[in-house]
Amino acid sequence: NVRLENIKRRFNNVTAIEDITFEIPDGEFWVLVGPSGCGKSTILRTIAGLENATSGNLYIGETLVNNVPARQRDVAMVFQNYALYPHMSVGENIAFGMKMRKMEPRVIQQRVAEVAASLSLEHLLDRKPKQLSGGQQQRVALGRAIARQAQVFLLDEPLSNLDAQLRDDTRAELKQLHQNLRNTTVYVTHDQVEAMTLADKIVVLSQGNIQQIGDPQTIYNHPANRMVATFIGNPP
Ligand code: ATP
Ligand code: MG
Repeated sequence: NVRLENIKRRFNNVTAIEDITFEIPDGEFWVLVGPSGCGKSTILRTIAGLENATSGNLYIGETLVNNVPARQRDVAMVFQNYALYPHMSVGENIAFGMKMRKMEPRVIQQRVAEVAASLSLEHLLDRKPKQLSGGQQQRVALGRAIARQAQVFLLDEPLSNLDAQLRDDTRAELKQLHQNLRNTTVYVTHDQVEAMTLADKIVVLSQGNIQQIGDPQTIYNHPANRMVATFIGNPP
């Protein structure tokens, strides 16, 4: 499980997240939603270890990881801006996390091929990121995270740059993947359909605070307050 206890993150005088507490049971798929600037990416980056909380405790499994560096956490992340390695080919990008974990080259090659096929990237494996479209780069970032098979999977709007058809296909692919791997997932999106179809639980955020946590039907049918109702699009 992933557990946040009273996590706060301040940047000088800006409070990015105010007081966040939730616990995601092993294997569940949670979706964070809320207006731009409400703190979604900061929460993911804190779980990944790329930000340090100003205060509060973060547990992955039973371990308090406040002071565990990012690379020692069993976490894979897809960033909002992809953050691909520009000097590496698509294939090398997808293989990166597995190489870090010193997996056998033959196993790595096999998995790169599988992941590339599931994301329709087979024909692009030798290209560099700058020779790809935005949507293709986004799928490479997703592939790199999937290939690692980490215990915790953090996805920051991983489908936002895809056209409608590709987004539907990739969403279905992600759902299938989660059913197979059952890794604990935290997923940020602005897309209602993604939130409703993928989430075990939706967390609605506003200005660094949680407004409501619930399964999609509950959030939709019984919004806790006007902010949630307006944001989810079902005002009382
Ligand atoms: P979006 O939907 O636009 O991606 P978000 O919910 O992911 O927004 P965050 O990126 O978590 O929002 O930012 C939360 C708040 O913290 C914002 O007000 C942002 O300006 C501020 N913030 C984030 N990172 C920094 C930083 N490095 N320095 C200063 N302020 C920051
Ligand atoms: Mg963000």
